[in-house]
Formats: sequence, C-alpha cells, structure tokens
Amino acid sequence: MSDDSAERAARLLHARRAHLAKGDAVAPSIELASMFHLPGDPAGHRQYGRFDNATWVAVEDSLSLLEDAPCLAFPSGMGAISAALMSQLKAGDRVLLPSDGYYTTRVFSDRFLKGFGVEIETRPTSRFLDGGFDGFRLVFVETPANPGLDLCDIAAVSKAAHAAGAVVVADNTTMTPFGQRPLDLGADIVVAADTKAPNGHSDVLFGHVGSRDPKIMEAVAAWRKLSGGIPGPFEAWLVHRGLETLELRFDRMCTTAETIAPRIADHPAIHHVRYPGLPGDPAHNLARTQMLRFGTLIGLTLENETIAERFIDGCNLLQPATSFGGLHSSAERRARWGDAVAPGFVRLSVGCEPAEELWKAMKASLDNAAGA
Ligand SMILES: *Cc1c(COP(=O)(O)O)cnc(C)c1O
Repeated sequence: MSDDSAERAARLLHARRAHLAKGDAVAPSIELASMFHLPGDPAGHRQYGRFDNATWVAVEDSLSLLEDAPCLAFPSGMGAISAALMSQLKAGDRVLLPSDGYYTTRVFSDRFLKGFGVEIETRPTSRFLDGGFDGFRLVFVETPANPGLDLCDIAAVSKAAHAAGAVVVADNTTMTPFGQRPLDLGADIVVAADTKAPNGHSDVLFGHVGSRDPKIMEAVAAWRKLSGGIPGPFEAWLVHRGLETLELRFDRMCTTAETIAPRIADHPAIHHVRYPGLPGDPAHNLARTQMLRFGTLIGLTLENETIAERFIDGCNLLQPATSFGGLHSSAERRARWGDAVAPGFVRLSVGCEPAEELWKAMKASLDNAAGA
C-alpha cells in the first residue's frame, strides 16, 4: 500500500496559507454565530448557524486533506456513525455489523434502526467475509475492532460487498487516516470518532464522515442540517488544533506500542496479548498489507479481574479510564461494560509518554499485581 502520510502531514500544516490575505491570523478563529447579516437573496452566503460555520469548514478542510475525500464534522463519533446509517438506510434494508466492534453502534442499530424496519445482522470481524453479502444494503466494518482487536480485509470485503450491491462503511477510529486508509482500500464511507487520537487531548467529543461519492455526502449533509446534530464551533477549533499534531503523536504512540507489546507478551503475569504488530498475532499478515502502522491499542489478558484491576490502578503512568487515543496512556477492563471478553482482559491505550518511562512503570505494576 502506498504511503503518502509524510506528504499529507506536511501539507496539512500549511493548507490555510493559500487562503490568507496580508494581516490575517495564521490559525483559524472561532466563529460563534447563529445569525449572519443577510439582506436580500440569501443564496451563496452563510445563512444560519445550523447550516454552516467557518470553524467547521476549517476542521473539515483538515479532515478532507487527511482522508483525501470531502468530510463533514459531527459532535461525536456516534453522531457521525448515526448520520452515515440514517442517511443511507430505509425500511426493508438489511445491515451487517461486526459482533465484536464498538458496542454503541450495535445498540443504536438495535434500538432505533430496527424500529424503522431495518434488519440487523452481526458477524465476528475475523470471519467477516464468511457467508458473503447477498441481500445486504449496507456492510459496516471496524478493523481493528474495538476492543478485541481482530481484523478484517477491507479491500476483500469492499469488493464482495460491491458485487452484492451493498455500500461499505468503515469505522476507522482505532487507526486514524495516518494508520489506515479505508477509502483507498475500497470502502465507500469512512466514519471516525475524532474524540480519540485526532483530538488527542481527552477534552473533546467529535466525529466525521468522509466519502468520495458526492451523492452520499449530499445525503449526509442534509441529515446534519435537518436533524440538527451539529458540532460546536469551539470543539471544531480544538479538533483543528489537535489534527495539526496528529501525525507527531500517532507516530510516537505507535512506535511505543510496537516497543512495549513484545515485552508485555513476555511478562509472566500476562496470559494472552493481542497486538496486530506482533508476528505471532493471528491478524499480523493482514495488518502488514492493510495498515500503515500497527496502531496504539494493545489487548492484554491477566489471570483474573482482581489482578487486572491491581495492574491498572497500581501503574502511575496509566489513567484508569474508558476511551483511548489521548496523550495520557490509559487502560480499562472491558468486561466491566459487558463486552464479550475475559474478566482479566485489559484494553491498553498507549499514549505519548517516553517509551522507556512508560514501560518501567508498567513493568513495576505488572510485577506487583501478579506477586501481591
Ligand atoms: C469511541 C468510538 C466511537 C464513538 O465515539 P464517540 O465520540 O464516543 O461518540 C465509535 N467507534 C469506535 C470504534 C470508537 O472507539
């Protein structure tokens, strides 16, 4: 897979330059406006704060550059995912979701789409191609799936799903555009929670939908404008700022994850590790061809709940917290939310601490948790 990440990262930092007049601020400003001065014919001008906002445009320009596709911003990852689903589906459609992906996507579909006459089916990510896609209107992939970190082949799924007449949506939250490029692999729509690494500072919820199909983007734009699920200008401004350091942070986080994953695997307190970058991982070969990096999430299983909690709480460089992708390394036991994982399974999000400092703290806590 060709990798233009460096070129994209460099271009991102200077993308606004072409539009600046002498004396303009280099950074975008926060446009706080519901009302715009609008005498006479409103066509071609900003009209109302639910339709349009200059700070949304600033962050969407950055996202579009990174995805190499038009993007629309949403107030959360679920805002983006629900917009993609609601704008594409109607009664009688069948949808395929991963059974091991982000839990809320399934709950949303079950609670709302089903009631509108949409049929929902699920399949494990590692066997997503099994059974084909005949009869599906929309196929939704998430790879690596959160939290179990199984992978599926986006190019193969897209090819088979397109042959069956389905539209393919990829949730790329766990990888970001610097780690994996679903649209280049054949997906029709990319959705992501920019709440995670793209914002990166654990202080904002945000999301986006991107597609190279103008018809799809037109439907997503109409959904946002009419449903009112719009992002706040301040949040858009923060995510714009976050995106400018995404390449730097993501590189550090992936490199650290690659460094510590084999050490975690070798630690006697660890029963099982999932990390796509480990040569022994069941998804490693696919990861090597499909992903640009191996990501920032590591799944580790300790003997039981008590030892897992002791490891998390006893490590002074780990935030015991849900969510991931922030500067601060964090970890949690996913079984506490009811995910179908072992009680001792911990999802570790590797942050931006210097690698050896992080490993020192983690090793001490692993030693301690198992020995105590
Ligand atoms: C966090 C997450 C979401 C939802 O994002 P929010 O901003 O919390 O709505 C969706 N998909 C995946 C894979 C996630 O990890």
